[in-house]
Amino acid sequence: MDILVLHSWHKQMPWNQAFSRGLHQGMAAFAEPYHLYEEYMDTNRFPGPAQHDHLARFLAGKYVGKTIEIVVTESDAAAAFFHRHPALFPAARHIAFQTVQDAPSSPLNNPAFEAERVQILTDFRAAIADMIRVADPRHVYVVIDTDDHSQEKRLWSFQQAFAEVGQGIDAHYLLDVPMTTLLPQLARLPPESAIFYLLIFDDGEGTPITPFEAVRRIAETANAPIFSHWDSLLGSGILGGYLLSGEQVGQMAARAIIAQLNQQPLTLDQGEAFVSAYDWVPLQRWGIDPGRLPQPTRIHNRPPNLWLVYKREIITLGLFSIGLFISLFLFQRNRLFKRMNAELSRLSMTDALTGLLNRRAIDALLVQECARRQRTGQPLSVLIFDIDHFKRINDQYGHEQGDRVLTTLASTLQQVMRRTDHLARWGGEEFILLAVDADLDQAALIAEKIRETVQAIAFAEQIRVTVSIGVAEYEPQETVEQVCARADTALYRAKRAGRNRVVIDPRGADRR
Ligand code: GH3
Ligand code: MG
Ligand code: MG
Repeated sequence: MDILVLHSWHKQMPWNQAFSRGLHQGMAAFAEPYHLYEEYMDTNRFPGPAQHDHLARFLAGKYVGKTIEIVVTESDAAAAFFHRHPALFPAARHIAFQTVQDAPSSPLNNPAFEAERVQILTDFRAAIADMIRVADPRHVYVVIDTDDHSQEKRLWSFQQAFAEVGQGIDAHYLLDVPMTTLLPQLARLPPESAIFYLLIFDDGEGTPITPFEAVRRIAETANAPIFSHWDSLLGSGILGGYLLSGEQVGQMAARAIIAQLNQQPLTLDQGEAFVSAYDWVPLQRWGIDPGRLPQPTRIHNRPPNLWLVYKREIITLGLFSIGLFISLFLFQRNRLFKRMNAELSRLSMTDALTGLLNRRAIDALLVQECARRQRTGQPLSVLIFDIDHFKRINDQYGHEQGDRVLTTLASTLQQVMRRTDHLARWGGEEFILLAVDADLDQAALIAEKIRETVQAIAFAEQIRVTVSIGVAEYEPQETVEQVCARADTALYRAKRAGRNRVVIDPRGADRR
């Protein structure tokens, strides 16, 4: 099944592109195999009968051997061409679309013309009513050039409709005004104006211009929204309106073809050819609320919905963020656990009151440092000291003051001792210092320094305390318990000798 569509204009015309798009969409509903050929007369370039005869010979040669069953002509020029060359496709039935107001020159008015005619005329009453609804203008400026008969008919139809539905609105007809005059005039329209663009094909100074280009220039300068009646003008800057849709007409052509092929009667509703369509950009520019538009309507150029455009990216990013969040959460939780563990182990090694190492920690250090002494031969001394008459402090000033004396004493000693030494709370009001790398002489000096330091501390409420200190140097082969017992004995002797003094266990000294 071979079908030929003959366009009057050329392939880049927005109208013809839309018609062709609609045609292919509509033909998708036809299940049987077919070939759809499209030809373009480009009648603006090749307007004369001699050129048309040449085109006829060219087409005859091109389609020789093919039986074209249906020819669709998209508008008057193509219809007239086909009418003048009946021998070209003798078997073809002709479906002729006509969208220009019934020009008397049209071959479709010739009674001898045999074709299925589909005449689609703009309903200007509907178009003007939509303009009033959307823009509510007080002045309407109608722009058109009238040197062509179909243009005169178009103007006449518009005027008839305006008389019916445009009451109370001033209509100003700007007919055949050259572009150079028209543009500044449309730039200074009074408030509450609208423009109705009924097409311009000529710049008024003898140069042809496409209707799209003409209205694009007008839209650049005009200070009022522009309504029109062709959807192929959308994108030029017109606001929109009740528009003849090339795509819809193309779809209607497909339905006409299918009805012919199926030998069914054709029923088409003219209204199907029109759409309410508006352009987002001029809607914004003129501050028109899309809620005013007749429904249903199509809005062109609307900024894309970011969700619809970037759905995949947004979902990917979302999942990535959740993953990142979970990782961070786990990471933080891990850090928290580590910190908790560190804190727990610190707590397990320190004395709650003074913050010094506790008995357990110093026991471990004693073992470690004694082992190091065995290995390296570096000396190691143990100092055990006890606050003198501490019971009295508690009795006289209370247990809390006693506590404060213990903490102050601890923190003061921590400041004066060497970093490598270890100070711990041995029990109650007893302390132990592991003096690393200190032999008995050096340990005696350290002990004396501690004694003097404590004696000099001014505690709260004028409290003064002293300490007694026992010192022993660790000897190889000795156990931790043995060296501690020797220091403890020395301390006991210091107490007995009158307190506030240092007693040195002599064993290390004897050895020397
Ligand atoms: P000396 O050692 O000079 O012989 O006399 P002392 O009074 O210090 O001797 P003793 O060992 O009999 O008494 C120690 C007192 O230290 C007993 C106890 O009430 C007190 N003490 C032990 N631990 C703490 C503590 O953590 N806080 C307070 N406030 N007092 C404590
Ligand atoms: Mg004591
Ligand atoms: Mg004691």
